[in-house]
Amino acid sequence: MPDRPLITVVVPCLNEEACLPLLVDRLVPVLEPLGTWEVLFVDDGSTDGTLAALRSLHARDPRLHFLSLSRNFGHEAATTAGMAHARGQWVALIDADLQDPPEVLTALLARGAEGFDVVTARRRARSGERLSKRLTSALFYRAMTLLVDDFELPLDTGDFRVLSRKAVDGFLRMPERNRFVRGMIAWSGYPTAEVTYERDARAAGETKYGPLQLAALALDAVIGFSTVPLRISSWLGISITALAAVGAIVVVVQRLFLDLDIEGYAFQTVSMLVLGGVQLVMLGVLGEYVGRIYDEVKRRPLYLVAEASTPEKPADPG
Ligand code: UDP
Ligand code: MG
Repeated sequence: MPDRPLITVVVPCLNEEACLPLLVDRLVPVLEPLGTWEVLFVDDGSTDGTLAALRSLHARDPRLHFLSLSRNFGHEAATTAGMAHARGQWVALIDADLQDPPEVLTALLARGAEGFDVVTARRRARSGERLSKRLTSALFYRAMTLLVDDFELPLDTGDFRVLSRKAVDGFLRMPERNRFVRGMIAWSGYPTAEVTYERDARAAGETKYGPLQLAALALDAVIGFSTVPLRISSWLGISITALAAVGAIVVVVQRLFLDLDIEGYAFQTVSMLVLGGVQLVMLGVLGEYVGRIYDEVKRRPLYLVAEASTPEKPADPG
C-alpha cells in the first residue's frame, strides 16, 4: 500500500506495566488494516516495569517505539513529547489504560480523512468512574465554556483524539510551559469533528489523577486560557470601595445631622475580616498568574529524554 499515510499513536504511560500488554493486544489489530503505523509510548518517569516492558515490546515489533523521559514531567508534557517525536501524517493520542477503546480510532481517522484536522472523541458514558468525578468534570467543562470566549472548548472530551500533521505542527509551535493540551488544540482553531464513544473503566492499575492533580489541571486550564479571575478581582475591588463610600456617607449623616451615637465594634470587625479575606484571595489569584509568568520566563525545556528507541532528534517546542 504505497500512498497510505503513516499513523503515529502516542501513548503517555506512567506506571502502566499491567496495561501495556492488554493495550498492544487490542491496538495492533485495529491499526493493521489502516495501513502503515507506529506506536510511540512515552514513559513518563515510571517506577514500575514500564520501561522494561517497552524495551521488550520494541524488540518484538520495531513499530512499537518508545521514549523515556528522565523523570515524571506530567501527562501534558509527556503528550507533548510524544507529539514532538511523532513522524506520522496523522497522530492519535490515547491513554494507556484502555479507558479509550482503540477500536474508536478507526472512526476518528475516517472523519479525519473527510477533511478535518482534529477529530475529538466525546465521552457518552463513563463506566467505572465515580459519580463525584463525573460531576466535577461536567461542571469544569461548563465553567470553562463560560470563561473562555474566543474559541470553543469541546465538552466532555479528554485528550483522546486524532490530529493531522498541520494540527500537530501548530500545537508544537506553542511554547508555553503550563500546558492544557486539549485547550491548546481547541485554541488553534483547525476544522474539528467529533465522534462519541463509551468511556470504559481502567483495564488495570490505578488512576494517577486524584482530586489534587485534577484541581491543578483545572487551575492551569482556567489561568492559561482566561484572565476573568483577574477581572473579577478588579470588579470586587470596585464594588467593595463603592459599598464603603456609601457606608461612610451614612455614618457622617448619622453623626452630624441625626445626632446618633455610633456603636461600631461588630461592624468594624466584620468589615475588616471581609476586606482582609478578599485581599488575600485576590493576592492569591495574582500569585497564580505571577508564578506562571515566572515558569514561562525561565524557558526550561518541557521535558528531557533519557532513552529512546528512535535515534533521530526532532526540534523540541520552545
Ligand atoms: N500519565 C502520564 N503521566 C502522569 C500521569 C498520567 O503519562 O503524570 C498517563 C497515564 O499513564 C495514562 C494517562 O496519562 O495513560 C491518563 O492517566 P490516568 O488514566 O491515570 O487518568 P484518568 O483517566 O484517571 O483521568
Ligand atoms: Mg485513565
